[in-house]
Amino acid sequence: EVKSLTELEKLHPLGQGSGGAVFKVRHKPTRAIYALKKISSSAAAAETQEEVSIHRIASSSPHVVKFQGSFQTPNGDVSILMDYMESGSLSDHAKASYHDARLPEHAIADVARQILQGFSHLHANNIVHRDVKPSNFLVNNNNNNEVKIADFGVSKRLPTRLARCDSYVGTAAYLSPERFDMAAHGSTYDGFAADVWSLGLVFLELYLGRYPLLEPGQKPDWPALMCAICFGEMPPKIPEEASEEFKEFIGCCLEKDPCKRWTVQQLLGHRFIVRRPEEEEERTQGDS
Ligand code: ADP
Ligand code: MG
Repeated sequence: EVKSLTELEKLHPLGQGSGGAVFKVRHKPTRAIYALKKISSSAAAAETQEEVSIHRIASSSPHVVKFQGSFQTPNGDVSILMDYMESGSLSDHAKASYHDARLPEHAIADVARQILQGFSHLHANNIVHRDVKPSNFLVNNNNNNEVKIADFGVSKRLPTRLARCDSYVGTAAYLSPERFDMAAHGSTYDGFAADVWSLGLVFLELYLGRYPLLEPGQKPDWPALMCAICFGEMPPKIPEEASEEFKEFIGCCLEKDPCKRWTVQQLLGHRFIVRRPEEEEERTQGDS
């Protein structure tokens, strides 16, 4: 157990985002390796505490990056200590392990199953993630690469299951149509359904090896994204060779009407996720 920041030796940076800098660190007494996220002190104290407390609760799921403690320095800086995920983000992993960063369907089903199980725990605890995108899922080297949910920097714990979200946060490219609407008209949205939309985009991105809603060199600015997300055909065209169950699964996530969109619990029962082992075997043989 790590008792204080002074026991940690900084090794090298792992990532730098809007929320703060993440370092690979070594616990000097045991030589154990961890990741330490320093939350930038520009964030309000209440928000910083929210990230810490949500990560702590979320971490009781094996599909969330394990929270190992939090530390506060006298000047008010807060950092979160967590398990080190050797293979980096899901986008790093896709680029490093698959040709053109395109995963075969059985690998997507495997990733999606783990992520959905993690989200089932989050949503059951009234936690909405609100920043679902490939760089916020991390991969380790255990059992053929486990994928876990990370970055609770803009997450929220809602007072009730029916509470709605009313603030504009997240990454524009992965926002659902109703969240664009909300940004424009100041209405509210169902945070759980909004997470599911973004998950659908991440799963489709793993299949295509690129962001699904823009043409390859198109600039991802606000008007282009709004046009594609709110007025584009959904689900977008998926190559012919994809299986029917995959296309249908993506359609259940990328449903424009949040009331008709499937819940995480429903998606866990979808035939793309629940595949019989013999089917899985045929599929792997077919790949080679
Ligand atoms: P931000 O709020 O700044 O986006 P994240 O928590 O998403 O912060 O971390 C930023 C990046 O740092 C990730 O996309 C990933 O590349 C790297 N990273 C974060 N946590 C870990 C970890 N536990 N193990 C390995 N890399 C990590
Ligand atoms: Mg992040």
